[in-house]
Amino acid sequence: MNEVYLDYNGSAPLDPRVFEAMEPLLRNGVGNASSSHRFGRRQAALAETAREQVAALVDAPAPGVVFCSGATEANNLALVGLAEGAPAERNRLVVSAVEHASVYETARWLHEQGMAKTDVVGVTEGGFVDLDELGSLLGPDVLAVSVMAANSETGVLNPLEQIAESAHGVGAVFHCDAAQVAGRLPLSMGDLSIDLLSLSGHKMCGPGGVGALVGTGGALRGLRPVAHGGGQERGLRSGSLNVAGIAGFGAAAVLGLKEREQESARVEVLRDRLVDGVRIGLRGVCENGDTSKRLPNTANLHFAGADAEAVIHNMDPLAVSAGSACSAGAIEPSRVLTAMGLSREEAFESVRFSLGRFTTDAEVDTAISKTVEAVTRVRDMTGEAFGAVG
Ligand SMILES: *Cc1c(COP(=O)(O)O)cnc(C)c1O
Repeated sequence: MNEVYLDYNGSAPLDPRVFEAMEPLLRNGVGNASSSHRFGRRQAALAETAREQVAALVDAPAPGVVFCSGATEANNLALVGLAEGAPAERNRLVVSAVEHASVYETARWLHEQGMAKTDVVGVTEGGFVDLDELGSLLGPDVLAVSVMAANSETGVLNPLEQIAESAHGVGAVFHCDAAQVAGRLPLSMGDLSIDLLSLSGHKMCGPGGVGALVGTGGALRGLRPVAHGGGQERGLRSGSLNVAGIAGFGAAAVLGLKEREQESARVEVLRDRLVDGVRIGLRGVCENGDTSKRLPNTANLHFAGADAEAVIHNMDPLAVSAGSACSAGAIEPSRVLTAMGLSREEAFESVRFSLGRFTTDAEVDTAISKTVEAVTRVRDMTGEAFGAVG
């Protein structure tokens, strides 16, 4: 069976070089990084090296890196931590309509709990945060604005500098979920004036179950911890460090920094060839989201008249995604696509292709033919008037 994996935005494969960096630690890396004996100190030193590596990837000072279990936890720590630490007169959160569930649902939960008031800012047809609407939602009571760098479903890149400027204009913190951009495109917290930034290891060919919230000193001082205990990670995230995972995350950050430019250029060519090939083979194909400012690895395609779940089922062993991975299996259409103005039906007919470091030319060929075949079959079954071309 010729498996082809085009679901990098859901989870990217572990780079063998990252595995090599982790293997000795998994085998022999005994010692709690909080212990003062030599074993513990050795583990702590490994974590500190990784802290510098992760900080370098996002152009931030190493002490601002708070390791945790992934971007979900980082997003929770950012929003819940801010809400808990906020002065009474700053109790409003503004999040975009296309945020990952770990931001969107957390903000909603804080609202329901009465811990913050949450406003949702919409997006344009292209998938960008609506800057005019954002401006109208901002005021002196806004605690934080949370907008992602790149959307996981469409790859659309938000205008982070303008968002930061608007947030700072009312004294609010700017939190950015950068899980999809880190290791793919240049990302400087300083240049973009980002106060808090979330990262995930397994989205950048590192291990799963590890990530970080990176913050400026001031923003981190405004947070209260979510996990209480031994006071690790500046007291913001208690728990014994997952040193092998953290070292792997660090190794993935080094590779991301070194290879992102070359890799993005290569992957973009493959992505464009995939989309062109599918469009040559099929009528009724549209790309969702702006195609000029998006991740080089992502394409979200609407196949008119073909239910995405049925298409995906017929594509096996080609792995792609309908809606975000986190809402896969749910019967609701993608919140991201409907926020961009797609109808429920159109959202249910949309498929995300996300490529990456190990995607080959031959895999793109397979993906094109599998996609054309699957969409044609689903349309034939449902009697849709879109056949294969020619
Ligand atoms: C995958 C993802 C997350 C969740 O990251 P985990 O490390 O899996 O918890 C959050 N935000 C975005 C944008 C993602 O793509």
